[in-house]
Amino acid sequence: MSKPKVAFYWCASCGGCEEAVVDLAEGILPVVEAVDIVFWPVALDFKRSDVEAMADGEIAACFVNGAIRTSEQEEMAQLLRRKAQLLIAFGSCAHMGGIPGLANFKDRDSILERVYQEVPTIGNPEKTRPQEETPIDGDESLTLPAFSNTVRTLDQTVDVDYYLPGCPPPVKLIVNAVTAILEGKLPPKGTVLAPDKALCDECPRKETKPEEMKIEQFKRPHQIIIDPEECLLAQGLLCLGPATRSGCEAACINGNMPCTGCLGPTSRVKDYGAKALSAIASSLEADDEQTIARLMEGIVDPAGTFYRYSLPASLLHRRRQTTEGTEA
Ligand code: SF4
Ligand code: SF4
Ligand code: SF4
Repeated sequence: MSKPKVAFYWCASCGGCEEAVVDLAEGILPVVEAVDIVFWPVALDFKRSDVEAMADGEIAACFVNGAIRTSEQEEMAQLLRRKAQLLIAFGSCAHMGGIPGLANFKDRDSILERVYQEVPTIGNPEKTRPQEETPIDGDESLTLPAFSNTVRTLDQTVDVDYYLPGCPPPVKLIVNAVTAILEGKLPPKGTVLAPDKALCDECPRKETKPEEMKIEQFKRPHQIIIDPEECLLAQGLLCLGPATRSGCEAACINGNMPCTGCLGPTSRVKDYGAKALSAIASSLEADDEQTIARLMEGIVDPAGTFYRYSLPASLLHRRRQTTEGTEA
């Protein structure tokens, strides 16, 4: 019997999710034994034309990491959606927009201006910017993918079957997902393949988390000697564990660092940033607006903090556009 075909692809991503697959270490051997990897550009020399030549639905499962920012990424998402029976959004960027999604606080022009003109390390007196089409000799031209104004999640681009959350997804969740696919024991379509409870529930410090949290001042990790046993939020560190889905075995907490929310929300929450803000706001020791404002000043970049991984998937989606003629 032929093995199920599996594909991996990356869109607007940092490559960390590809590393997470490699992090399976010897655990990858039974996977490789059980499946036929037919497309994985970062590791194997298959081309887009190889995928185009496949029949629709020929790939059993395709794992796509990264957000969608360019026309090429959109085309590849559509192609892989057609060719795969199961499309899995792999990692925070595909799931919620992730770190690349923070670019939705800016628009395309200001990003290009910053990168190609303003940064101190760039020498570009002619203010050259990448062009979608550049004529060369004769009738020939060089082309680049279009760079859109807004970063989208995978499911804002194509239909997605499952989500593997995390930045990158924890190895254990990857193994569980691959096993469920191979054994045909998948939950209903649309499920996030991780426990549906908050990180605080699996945190080794949960016994030290006060019943009633009373934060009097926010501190940043480099400003204090962090107690390695006590709840980080109780120490005044902005730990987003109360709003974040579990499944990482409290990886950051075990490293004595607060959770920044990469696994996103549980299924009952529509907007991760709003939930995280509300969880933190309810932990403040403040009864009046002045004290609340003073405490909140201790949070550097609140929008970027609470929507670090989820701005494109949020109800906000992106910053309001001020440039005329730009797409939303
Ligand atoms: S989810 Fe994290 S590790 Fe994966 S591509 Fe995005 S930024 Fe990189
Ligand atoms: S707030 Fe953070 S440190 Fe405290 S119990 Fe929750 S996850 Fe653990
Ligand atoms: S502790 Fe939070 S930020 Fe760290 S891996 Fe887990 S969910 Fe992600």
